[in-house]
Amino acid sequence: MRFHGLYHTRTSNNSHIQRRVLSSYCDGEDSLLPVLIVGGGPVGLVLSILLTKLGVKCAVLEKNSAFSRHPQAHFINNRSMEVFRKLNGLADEILRYQPPVDLWRKFIYCTSLTGQVLGSVDHMKPQDFDRIVSPVSVAHFSQYKLMRLLIKQLEDIGFHIRSNGLMNSDDSKLAERDILLGHECTSINVTEKCVNVTAYLTREGKRVKKDFQCNFVVGTDGAGSTVRRLMGIDMSGTHDLQKLISVHFMSHELGQYLINERPGMLFFIFNTEAIGVIVAHDLEQGEFVLQVPFYPPQQKFEDFSFRTCEKLIFKLVGRELSDINVLDVKPWVMHAEVADTFVSGNNRIILAGDAAHRFPPAGGFGMNTGIQDAHNLAWKLASVIKGIAPPSILSTYETERRQIAIFNTALSVENFKAAMAVPAALGLDPNIANSVHRTINDTFGSILPSDLQRTILDGIFSIGRMQLSDSLLNENNPLGSSRLSKLKQIFEEGKSLQLQFPAEDLGFRYSKGALVSDGDSSSSARETPTGRRRDYVPSSDPGSRLPHMKIQLLSAFSSKDAFSTLDLVSADNIEFLLIIAPVKESYQLAESAFKVAEEFKVSLKVCVVWQEKPSDGNGSSKTALLPWTNIVDVIEAKNYPTSQSWWDLCQMTDRGAILVRPDEHIAWRAKSEIKNDPLLVLNKVFYSILGSESSCTTGDLDIVPIIPLDEIPETTLVGSMRVDYTDE
Ligand SMILES: Cc1cc2nc3c(=O)[nH]c(=O)nc-3n(C[C@H](O)[C@H](O)[C@H](O)COP(=O)(O)OP(=O)(O)OC[C@H]3O[C@@H](n4cnc5c(N)ncnc54)[C@H](O)[C@@H]3O)c2cc1C
Repeated sequence: MRFHGLYHTRTSNNSHIQRRVLSSYCDGEDSLLPVLIVGGGPVGLVLSILLTKLGVKCAVLEKNSAFSRHPQAHFINNRSMEVFRKLNGLADEILRYQPPVDLWRKFIYCTSLTGQVLGSVDHMKPQDFDRIVSPVSVAHFSQYKLMRLLIKQLEDIGFHIRSNGLMNSDDSKLAERDILLGHECTSINVTEKCVNVTAYLTREGKRVKKDFQCNFVVGTDGAGSTVRRLMGIDMSGTHDLQKLISVHFMSHELGQYLINERPGMLFFIFNTEAIGVIVAHDLEQGEFVLQVPFYPPQQKFEDFSFRTCEKLIFKLVGRELSDINVLDVKPWVMHAEVADTFVSGNNRIILAGDAAHRFPPAGGFGMNTGIQDAHNLAWKLASVIKGIAPPSILSTYETERRQIAIFNTALSVENFKAAMAVPAALGLDPNIANSVHRTINDTFGSILPSDLQRTILDGIFSIGRMQLSDSLLNENNPLGSSRLSKLKQIFEEGKSLQLQFPAEDLGFRYSKGALVSDGDSSSSARETPTGRRRDYVPSSDPGSRLPHMKIQLLSAFSSKDAFSTLDLVSADNIEFLLIIAPVKESYQLAESAFKVAEEFKVSLKVCVVWQEKPSDGNGSSKTALLPWTNIVDVIEAKNYPTSQSWWDLCQMTDRGAILVRPDEHIAWRAKSEIKNDPLLVLNKVFYSILGSESSCTTGDLDIVPIIPLDEIPETTLVGSMRVDYTDE
């Protein structure tokens, strides 16, 4: 059954050079740590779990001596929850521990938490609960609580969290599954064979230098990334959109009051004494974060003492709270920027998460985009380390994820602008506040003492806030009434800050990269971000996430055993999935796919989707595909008789086929029957996805697997198929 038809012996020395370069990245005999992750935030921790599941050894350096406890992110989008479903039940844990959805589905606009409600927007629609487009829903769960669950998972899979650094300070051998706290990466040197990383550990007041070696470094070290700086990578976009102060506080009293009176996730508060946004992280526990604009140098960070913050919170609540407990105050800056490159240093240094992109938190895309970076990267990195793909496949990580990061930046900016529509309608245009601040800086910056500048700024802002006085902002005042009706219109037309973006959350699509675009992809709704909610439309266009549909094993007796099409993709193995219907031609295609995958040394599973139980009992896929065995027969578990069939959902005929990557994105599809030699077609497909040097572990040094693309006659290819070459 071995398939050698498309192989030819390459005699040029070139193949040896390629193999040497490739083998220096591979595991096997090599004693170097394959992957060192710099930064133990959510993205670094998720990546370390994903890599470990795929059998890749890795370790983490974290500069702080403890993991961050600041709540920061709290909205976990649908796609991230799908990724979490496969991390040993993480999604279920989040759903179990998160607050009930009725306590966070709304954004509330008010003059104080106990004062007049100006409007409220419910961000959950009936379809968000029915699990038709995804097997899981979005969640509201604080970042630090997520981190705790991730750390627990890491410990369960054998990671050691070392808070004192390595036992022996001279030991530069970093063990796999180590998370070294208190280690700040300060230098990176890429050689032809490895990456040398220097980190400093502060121990008993002294800085101890540590040198480590590894094959790849992934910089998940956040918005101010040292790895990015050390590699000389610039960011493009808008720098310093807004400075803010974030105040983490607890008040059980406030939580209980809001549960009874006006439960919500975000509270936008506008009154004559203060303006701010309070994020209810958990009403039942009384956990909140206040965000207020910050205008240095007139305002100083030291001005925000815990006592000052308490007073500010009382002004926004509209009364004092007996049990207020301010835990932490942090300044931060909002940017809208994307790194110019995500992969550098001869493919050995990779950026992910906030290190690669930083957006306004409007719409909660920051951490979510980072988690999805990790998901895209993990299987590619594992493929290189296991010798399935050449290092050049890593450039497709940049091609695919940078496009998404740029889009999500624009989307977050649009959504941030929508958030500003509300204060603008109230006569408080934040752009004016920012330009007043700039004018003070430019005009008085070097002339007036800073205290006086601050008095001027406070004076101007408090005059601005007079727009919010009760005497003005009411239905009897013509100006107030016109402002209130403008607000109503903004809320009704969905023009205020949105929480959910299903079209972008589940519907993001890679147009180029480790995939074969078929030139027939419907133009996606993503092209221009509007900042408005748009529904997700399932698509089998290459680059899209595989649509979810409930299915069950053909052999299962009841629909209670239904699972998702996404569950067909393994998270513990680099495995491609070919989905076909039970028709003769598709079986032939599947046989060819098995043969080609075997040559590429990559695992393949074939899923045969039946629309009805076959009359001859259990169906014949297993016999039809002998001797191949990695086959699963499934049948659609329709919710309603009117539900679409799988192939209708994918807008294809059942003579077609879909090839899915290990990250659940579609690598290639044939919309209808393939007329040409399926071996040639699939050979070209796998070549396009996995790159030209298909294996570095093959024993046969003189065989270069597969004919280069341009040597395959075009006439043997499917009519409209167009191949996007991966960037070398
Ligand atoms: C107010 C606010 C609300 C937000 N809400 C949401 C939301 O609802 N949903 C969402 O998706 N996103 C949200 N975000 C964004 C989200 O918090 C970030 O995108 C997320 O923290 C990025 O994770 P990360 O792992 O990439 O980086 P980080 O969380 O910044 O982690 C980086 C880690 O690297 C470490 N580090 C830094 N330098 C070094 C070094 N030299 N050596 C070793 N370690 C180093 C740091 O100590 C840190 O632990 C919000 C952000 C803010 C500010």
